[in-house]
Amino acid sequence: MNNLILVNGCHPYLPSAELNLIPVHKNYPNVLLEREASLALTRLMDQLDGWRFIVPVSGWRSQEEQQRIWDESIRDNGQKFTQQFVALPGHSEHQTGLAIDLGLLQAKIDFICPAFPHEGICQKFRELAPAYGFIERYPKDKEKITGIAYEPWHFRYVGVPHAEIIAKSGLTLEEYLL
Ligand SMILES: [Zn+2]
Repeated sequence: MNNLILVNGCHPYLPSAELNLIPVHKNYPNVLLEREASLALTRLMDQLDGWRFIVPVSGWRSQEEQQRIWDESIRDNGQKFTQQFVALPGHSEHQTGLAIDLGLLQAKIDFICPAFPHEGICQKFRELAPAYGFIERYPKDKEKITGIAYEPWHFRYVGVPHAEIIAKSGLTLEEYLL
């Protein structure tokens, strides 16, 4: 997998190489990421003792799973919300195995928009993420460029040094690549 692969509304996910997916943690056997991304996330979480407070809400998704999430969101939340927060099937970064949604551990966790506040352990994660190859993929005020609303819970593995350069520059992945 090319860590810099761009998947968005204009760039569909085109499966090329076989994915090498592994669970992000033994307690979450159904949340998978590409091996390199998963190992980087493990190192970052170990640094923070993060799995005590943070839940991996959604990692790799198949085309079928993305379609199901899209259909259910349209049904439950309507078209406008769904277009803001759910990528079209075939156009989701989650299909690459390089994207992860994280949520603060609490009684009720929203699957589409999990809470990942700018304080405490979540903020510490956010600050450390670029050093481990992860960026905040859908920043505030960049919706016109990314096509997705602000998602403070969605992190994308691009590897180092790219993540640090992108985070420092304030660019989106689209701007960094084009
Ligand atoms: Zn996501």
